[in-house]
Amino acid sequence: MKKLYLKNINQAIKTAQNNTYFDRLAKIYDTIPRGRCLGCTKCCMESVHTHFIEFLNIFYYLRENRKLYEKLFPQIIRYYFLEMVEKEHCPFLDEEGMCAIYEVRPLVCRMFGHLTQDEYEESYKNVLHQNNEIMKAFKNQYKIMLPENVVNYKIDYCKSFEVDRRMTKEHRRELIDHIFSMESAFFMRGLITEDFLDTGLVSWFVYTAFDIEEAGTLRIKIMKEYLEKGYSESLEESMKKIKAII
Ligand code: SF4
Ligand code: SF4
Repeated sequence: MKKLYLKNINQAIKTAQNNTYFDRLAKIYDTIPRGRCLGCTKCCMESVHTHFIEFLNIFYYLRENRKLYEKLFPQIIRYYFLEMVEKEHCPFLDEEGMCAIYEVRPLVCRMFGHLTQDEYEESYKNVLHQNNEIMKAFKNQYKIMLPENVVNYKIDYCKSFEVDRRMTKEHRRELIDHIFSMESAFFMRGLITEDFLDTGLVSWFVYTAFDIEEAGTLRIKIMKEYLEKGYSESLEESMKKIKAII
């Protein structure tokens, strides 16, 4: 299974409710010390890694807020196809510069300001290395030159975030482990497979509309068209298909 079928998502939501996973997730989030931030949104510049249970939590929230879902879904899809050729802010950020899913935002967003500068720079080094590997692969396999401003984009370390008690590395690890321990129920029931490991928030939504491989192939086509002409007919066609799905 390489697509997230609605019937599987519904079954997974039922599993999460029967096992009080959403409550457990809320309790996990509650252990994160609240900080004070300027709300400048400079850190909302990518599709963050999100666990399946977190995606279900967000999906359930949006399904209860249908209008918001209808508005966000096309933005999410567009972001997925163009994120490697054009640097844009996270598609969940609204016109007022607020997170549209703030109540249910993923763990990574909640922990952002808690890293020390050294930890942050170390993690950026890994991201940069990964991006450069992706850039080489795109060039060699598809003859696509990813723009350098996208590959080298850096969200600066935030010095404005204030918190009375910064999370330790151990605390952050512990929360990730707790969340991950809930995922096994979904794997055991065949509701997701290992194809979905390491999925970004945006990609989860894309896989409700496209098979993983279909999405990957289409993305290459769209990126090529976009880099050559500044727009992509394939993207516009896909957006029509998305409207039909919503
Ligand atoms: S955490 Fe920092 S970068 Fe992010 S919105 Fe707050 S002040 Fe801005
Ligand atoms: S989900 Fe919300 S908090 Fe997280 S990056 Fe996007 S807009 Fe920012």
